[in-house]
Amino acid sequence: MKRRSWAEPYKIKMVEPIRMTSREERERAIAEAGYNTFLLRSQDVYIDLLTDSGTSAMSDRQWAGMMRGDEAYAGSRNYYSLEAAVHEHYGYKHLIPTHQGRGAEHLLSQLCINPGDSVPGNMYFTTTRHHQEAAGGSFVDVIVNEAHDPASEHPFKGNVDLDKMRSLIERVGAERIPYLSLETNVNMAGGQPCSMENIRAVCALCHEHGIPVYLDATRAVENAWFIKQREAGFADRTIKSILLEICSHTDGCTMSAKKDSLVNIGGFLAVNDDALAERARNLVVVYEGLHTYGGLAGRDMEAMAIGIAESVQEDHIRARIGQVEYLGLRLMDAGVPIVRPIGGHGIFIDAARFLPHIPRERFPAQALAAALYVDSGVRSMERGGVSAGRDPETGENIFPSLELIRLTLPRRVYTQAHMDVVAESVLDLHEHPEQVQGLEMVHEPEHLRFFQARFVPMVPASASCGGIAAQSVRP
Ligand SMILES: *Cc1c(COP(=O)(O)O)cnc(C)c1O
Repeated sequence: MKRRSWAEPYKIKMVEPIRMTSREERERAIAEAGYNTFLLRSQDVYIDLLTDSGTSAMSDRQWAGMMRGDEAYAGSRNYYSLEAAVHEHYGYKHLIPTHQGRGAEHLLSQLCINPGDSVPGNMYFTTTRHHQEAAGGSFVDVIVNEAHDPASEHPFKGNVDLDKMRSLIERVGAERIPYLSLETNVNMAGGQPCSMENIRAVCALCHEHGIPVYLDATRAVENAWFIKQREAGFADRTIKSILLEICSHTDGCTMSAKKDSLVNIGGFLAVNDDALAERARNLVVVYEGLHTYGGLAGRDMEAMAIGIAESVQEDHIRARIGQVEYLGLRLMDAGVPIVRPIGGHGIFIDAARFLPHIPRERFPAQALAAALYVDSGVRSMERGGVSAGRDPETGENIFPSLELIRLTLPRRVYTQAHMDVVAESVLDLHEHPEQVQGLEMVHEPEHLRFFQARFVPMVPASASCGGIAAQSVRP
């Protein structure tokens, strides 16, 4: 069959030059950054796949919207555009804007969680769990077992395991469960979706016990795309209607608009409950700003309103997830161990299998992210033992089943040629994994340590004197 390619549904109107550095420059830069890609300067990065958060390219219409910012302290016109967009696309009754997703998580956690409560979720997310714990709750993972197996081809690895949810309710009692935090296209599982069938069933189960369900809607649009592709009965539905249905089963959401909604900053809390909305409007004033701007400029809210409408356009979401798939297939075809099926916002490489010679205590994913940067200037992110942190009770390191690096694709930013450069660099490292050495953590911040932790590389056993397995080279 003759090949018929598809391409991005836009053309490029403005360019931002990027610079390729030399290997020596990159070796110096990563050492200065303590082998933590979060601590690199962006000017030293060639292709930046650290995150899809706030890194998207805005459209000409969004930029035009920025010029229509109404910077009134109270009651900005742009707040009402945003309220209308959230109502039309997400369906919830009340909107409380926040500066980004974690602002909304903070409000929801403070308002709903009492000390000693259990807060179930389909796998943890770093900031979400942090705010739940800061409010005195403890996170309980209720995701299906397949989510913890990078090789499982389950089409909906984001699903909640209903038995795990039932047994939690039995064990602690519904009154000690303030809500279920239901994440769509589960980030830490590799961008894996929930099925509509599962969303309906888990919401019904929770509501039967009087437990509200709050969606982490950060990537709900991408989840809607997978439902359309994979779930019977949805092929002819629009992304817009699938998104609305997902939300309709739940009681509200926290949202990082820096992902699906195509803006560089912004987020919101949206709820249906009148009394909770009233309390949230009261609390947002303390932490973010007045309830009609929540830490955002008027222009940010206008860009977000336009971005929300663009995010559900079928050609946009096809190209966005299609680019992720292109990179994933190139790696998979060459035998690189990646989380399967290919997810929505990035490619997750199984660092434990990529670097089997590095023990978990030496942070193979952190080491792989640093090595990839040195090889090609591509910046990725660790999503494994460093991100998981320590058990708040025992103080021990948590080593989650998944030890991954994430190559996250900003929306509408890079081309297929950039994807080829990334794939070639990963393949080169995959041919010579023994060149990558483990790391020792030499600085560990107390909160969300992965952002600011510092490391030094271990030298291989053969190169160290004294015959100890491996030693770190402290600066
Ligand atoms: C990014 C993200 C958040 C937090 O949002 P911020 O805008 O970074 O504060 C919460 N949940 C998920 C799933 C995310 O990906």
